Amino acid sequence: MQSGVVAFIFIVKIKGKTDWFCSLELSLFKHCQTVRAATNKQELSRAEEVRESSSLKKGNQAREKGGIFGQGGRSKRDLLMDLDLGSLLHSLIPSWNSVAVLGVYFGYLAIAGSILPGKVVSGATLQDGSRLHYRCNGLLSLLLLVGLLGVGAQMEIVSATVISERGLELLSATFIFSVAVTMMLYVAGRMSKDKGSSLRPHVTGNLIEDWWFGIQLNPQFLSIDLKFFFVRAGMMGWLFINLSVLAKSIQDGTLNQSMILYQSFCTLYIMDYFFYEEYMTSTWDIIAERLGFMLVFGDLVWIPFTFSIQGWWLLRNNVELTTAAVIANCFVFLMGYMVFRGANKQKHDFKKDPKAPIWGKAPRVIGGKLLASGYWGIARHCNYLGDLMLALSFSLPCGISSPVPYFYPIYLLILLIWRERRDEARCAEKYREVWAEYRRLVPWRILPYMY
Ligand code: NDP
Repeated sequence: MQSGVVAFIFIVKIKGKTDWFCSLELSLFKHCQTVRAATNKQELSRAEEVRESSSLKKGNQAREKGGIFGQGGRSKRDLLMDLDLGSLLHSLIPSWNSVAVLGVYFGYLAIAGSILPGKVVSGATLQDGSRLHYRCNGLLSLLLLVGLLGVGAQMEIVSATVISERGLELLSATFIFSVAVTMMLYVAGRMSKDKGSSLRPHVTGNLIEDWWFGIQLNPQFLSIDLKFFFVRAGMMGWLFINLSVLAKSIQDGTLNQSMILYQSFCTLYIMDYFFYEEYMTSTWDIIAERLGFMLVFGDLVWIPFTFSIQGWWLLRNNVELTTAAVIANCFVFLMGYMVFRGANKQKHDFKKDPKAPIWGKAPRVIGGKLLASGYWGIARHCNYLGDLMLALSFSLPCGISSPVPYFYPIYLLILLIWRERRDEARCAEKYREVWAEYRRLVPWRILPYMY
């Protein structure tokens, strides 16, 4: 499922039909050209010569054989597509610069996460009764880094547009890092003799499965909880990509209402995430998933590089929004935020104090364990509904001329439906008749009266 944008582009290359994917690819291609304009120019013309002559040869051979090339050889479009693919692949090769950017970024996050002050939150109680502790200083780390980079950009030590110009390199460097780090996690997990819940190895014996889903629940490196670290890196990465895209649009003089709306919504969402970072400690990923390639790739590559597609798309496409569209877009964002944050907060408060009032009233509790008031009395996963509305609001600024900017809400819809099913099965097993009663009282999964 998570083969990523690159795989999509390759599919388009092969099929060579769909314009909207081609437009994404064209954006990426143009972006590659900016990065390596000088070298690419020479390489492209060299490649074009090679292609032209090889195509000529092929055309001649085919004509001689009376085959499918008999009507004048390969088309210009085929040639261009070959060139695009070559250039795209070339732009994916990480340079030492992109490795350095990643290294400095991870290094900063490790140091800032360890030394900056922050609320220390106890995680969920694990099977063996132990609890991990998380220092929630993500917001401070983020603001400090934004400040440092801002000063660096002013002093022209760092370039604000570096990510938007080296996006593909950074994507592949992060991908390679994810593969390497999860191989190390696999080896460390297999060698672990720990009997505690967080480090006990879960080995199926199937190498691919163990590497994909991970072996340990909460592996650590230099006392850093890697799972918490990678989510933080991915969410911040998303913001930094956006900020770099914003800087690029200012530099190019293309900043418009759509870009401002997209940037504002995403920034609010990401800042909100870090403001409430402690809520992350009780989510499914932290509590239930082991740390393998699926999670590391999802956090480091998928979140930052695919959730920001709208921004990349807006760099290349001009959208004019009517006032009514802007108002409707803001409305969807605000409603989504209210439901998303409200539902997650209600559950978090309920777990801390099952008597805490919900919407000013005593909560309705089933079997002393499950909340059936507020948003949790409307649908069993109202928080997913809010998240989906938010995701939609990030794409609406792009208008409806192309489905490319709707990648994130479509992906999230599929993910959350799948996730809800898995969570449902987990809760049915954990809470048994209490869950059955909850299902009876609250029959809707995500969207009341629909699903
Ligand atoms: P939830 O926060 O909904 O957590 C599910 C867990 O909550 C259950 O396993 C159960 O755990 C507990 N629970 C369920 N129902 C009740 C209830 N009625 N009363 C009390 N406890 C209940 O799921 P996630 O961790 O999947 O998602 C957290 C947030 O992250 C969501 O808002 C989601 O939209 C968002 N998210 C975003 C993604 C993205 O890519 N943008 C991806 C995934 C999630 P327990 O056993 O502890 O009781």
